[in-house]
Amino acid sequence: MITREELHFLAEIENTGDSAISFYFQPETPKNRSHREEGILLKDMLRDALRKAERMPADGKQKQDLHRILERTEQWKGGSRAKVIFACGARGIWREFEVPARLQKSQLIINDRFHLKPLARLVEAFPRACVLLADREIARFFTLRAGEIQEAGEMRTSTPRKARSDGFAGYDAGHAQRHVENEAMKHFKTVSERLQGLHQASGCERFLVGCREDTWPDIEPHLHTYVRQRLVGRFNIDPAVATKEQVLQHAGRMLQEHEVAERQGMVREVLGEAHRNGRGAVGLRHVLMSLERGEIQTLLLGERFSAAAVQCQHCGHMDTRMVRHCAVCGKDTREIEDVGDALIGIAIRSGIPVVYVQEDPEFEGAGNVGALLRFRADQNTPRKQVAS
Ligand SMILES: [Zn+2]
Repeated sequence: MITREELHFLAEIENTGDSAISFYFQPETPKNRSHREEGILLKDMLRDALRKAERMPADGKQKQDLHRILERTEQWKGGSRAKVIFACGARGIWREFEVPARLQKSQLIINDRFHLKPLARLVEAFPRACVLLADREIARFFTLRAGEIQEAGEMRTSTPRKARSDGFAGYDAGHAQRHVENEAMKHFKTVSERLQGLHQASGCERFLVGCREDTWPDIEPHLHTYVRQRLVGRFNIDPAVATKEQVLQHAGRMLQEHEVAERQGMVREVLGEAHRNGRGAVGLRHVLMSLERGEIQTLLLGERFSAAAVQCQHCGHMDTRMVRHCAVCGKDTREIEDVGDALIGIAIRSGIPVVYVQEDPEFEGAGNVGALLRFRADQNTPRKQVAS
C-alpha cells in the first residue's frame, strides 16, 4: 500500500506536458464479468495510446512506458490484488503499487499530472485501524484497512487463572487473589503500551477491541486516552480461539459502519454551515476561493465529481469560467480536464484531509464538492479550536 509520503511526492508532479501516465488495474474476477470486459477494453486503450505515442517520434519515452505497462499486465494475469502504475519517462518516474482490489474500475489516463483520485481515495477513505483481542493471558494485535487484515503480533502472560487454594484459608487465599489481580493489571498495562506502540509504528487512526464481555471492565481503564478517544467500538469474541477471518468480519463491519456515519455527519455539517453562510463552502467556485484563501480544514469530494476548469500557468490560480487569461495575474491559462485531480493534488500537498462522499443526492445537488472551513476570511471569525 502506498504511503502518504509517496502520495505527496506524486502530487508534486505537475505540468509534465501530457507525459504523466496513470494506470489503474482492477483484477478480473470470475464473479464479475464486467471487469473481464474491462480488461479487454483496457488492452485496447493501451494499444490505442501506443499508436498515438508512435506517431509522436519525439516522445520515445512515453512509448517505452506504455510497452512496459502492457508487459506488466501480462504478468499480473490471475492475481487478486489491484495494481497501480505512475510513469513519466520524461521525468524518470516509474512507481508501481499493489493495493486492495477495491478500485472502481481499471483505467489509463495520460495527462499533465498524475490521476491520484482512486489511489488517494483508498488511502484516505479507508483509514487504518488497530484491532486488539485480549483476555487475562493473551493479547493479539491486528491492523485493518480497506477490508484487509494483517496480524501484528501476539503477547502471552502466564497469569495464574485463579488463586491457589492450598495454604491457610483466610489470609493466604486473599493474598493469592490479590496477587492474581495484580498480575492481570500488569498484563493489561503492558497490552495497552503495546497498542500505543503499534499505533505509533503503523499510523492507525482507529481502534477496536475484541474480548469477552466480562474482561472489558478490566481492559478499558488501562487504554491510553488517545486510544479511548479513537475507539470505534468493542465486540464479543474469545481471543484465545478467534480466527483472523472472524476478527475481520466483526471489526471490518464495525469500522465500515463507523466511517459511513462519520462521513454522513461531515456532509450534513458542511451543507448546514454553507446554508447558514458559516464555516462551510459548497460548489466548485466557492471551494476554489476558500482553497486560495487557505480556509479549508477538510475537503469533501463526491465519488463521481468531475468538472473542467482553467488554471493559470504562471500563478496557479484556478477558475471555473473557461477564460483564456488569468483573472489574478493576466497570464495564459490552461484547461484542466478534471479539476478533481488538481484539488486532490493541492489537498495532499497542503496536508488537507479529503473525505470521499458516496452517492449523496443532496451533496451532488450542491455541486458534489464542498469543504469544512477553519475560518472565513471575509467574516474574520476564527473557528474555535477543537481537538482533532
Ligand atoms: Zn495567474
